[in-house]
Amino acid sequence: MTTVNEKTWYRDLLQAVFKFSLIPKDDQKQALRIRRLFMAMIAYIINGSLAYASYLAGITEWQAIAGLLIIIPLINISFYIILRTGLNLRMADPSLTLVQMCAAILVVMYVMYFANESRGLLLLMYVIMLLFGIFRLNTRQFLFISVFTLLTYGGDIVLLHLFRPQGVNFQNEYLQWIVLALVLVAFSIIGGYISSLRRNLGVSRSELQKSIAIIREMAIRDELTGLYNRRHLMELLEYEKNRSSRGGSQFAIAMLDIDHFKNVNDTHGHLMGDHVLRTVSTIIRDALRNTDICGRYGGEEFLLVFTQTDIKGAMICAERVRASIEQNRFPDLGPDFRITVSLGFTEYRFREDVEKMIARADHALYRAKSEGRNCVEYDE
Ligand code: GH3
Ligand code: MG
Ligand code: MG
Repeated sequence: MTTVNEKTWYRDLLQAVFKFSLIPKDDQKQALRIRRLFMAMIAYIINGSLAYASYLAGITEWQAIAGLLIIIPLINISFYIILRTGLNLRMADPSLTLVQMCAAILVVMYVMYFANESRGLLLLMYVIMLLFGIFRLNTRQFLFISVFTLLTYGGDIVLLHLFRPQGVNFQNEYLQWIVLALVLVAFSIIGGYISSLRRNLGVSRSELQKSIAIIREMAIRDELTGLYNRRHLMELLEYEKNRSSRGGSQFAIAMLDIDHFKNVNDTHGHLMGDHVLRTVSTIIRDALRNTDICGRYGGEEFLLVFTQTDIKGAMICAERVRASIEQNRFPDLGPDFRITVSLGFTEYRFREDVEKMIARADHALYRAKSEGRNCVEYDE
């Protein structure tokens, strides 16, 4: 029993090891954060090497290097574990930008303590770190990092006063502290400005996308009824035709025309005519399946596309539309007001042109009109 359990445990572990990838494949955001951490790691290694070089040159003391050998792996492994296990997702800022910057600033503070004459040079490291945050932090966060930096450098000066005052030019350090403060203020203002630019850019991009979506809708829809317009109907028909010609399913179309519509306009005025057109559009849309397509083909003519439907199915659908419109009441136009429509429908023939199919539906519609209207006719 124990052996079996042990084997399973062993196999699970092996599987986990082989499946493990340094950067997660299923979460883009986390992957980006880990890649950013790798960039920071490279920066740590470069700076660590520089610190080692300055130790060889006798500028920096050995404690700086010894400390770095422990601190750098510790910080990076900890951040990697937090990011890879997703612990960061439970934190207020999952990107951990601010925390990572603070950690790096503390590392610089540590090295600076032992840096002797090269301390001033190390201040440049702060600039590199702030560059990391330039696209992410807002002015307030930048100011926080600046104050944190000044406090750590100030802390270094105090510690040097207390424990290693020999050989330190404190006047120089105070001057450097002031210059650093000025640089950091400038950085905070510029950095905050850049991130606000970036935010605004994001906002205008999403507004642009919304506008494009609206323009696209306007380009394909008929203004009065909200149904597809003729141009888009033709595009959809072309698409349906290609699908069917490539061995897709059969489809059928119907041309619908409102009966004696001119009378509506003449008797009740154009505005009421428009109202009738809108109502008829809604009835048509409601009577069709979601997969069917309908649009306004012309003034009071509508084109209906019954996808995945043969001639028998189209007959049933067309009749349903006709009956729904006949049964509808128009309270705004009086109790006896009725609207009827005539429909002509036909089935798509293998590889024929869309225009030919529409001509057949038109022909059938013409017959429906001549047979007394309010009926459905088809053309084979
Ligand atoms: P039929 O039964 O033969 O179809 O008779 P009809 O009166 O409907 O004849 P026709 O198709 O010639 O008339 C169409 C009328 O539709 C003429 C036109 O004024 C009206 N019309 C077209 N577009 C609009 C529109 O957008 N709004 C309004 N109110 N009327 C429109
Ligand atoms: Mg008409
Ligand atoms: Mg007409």
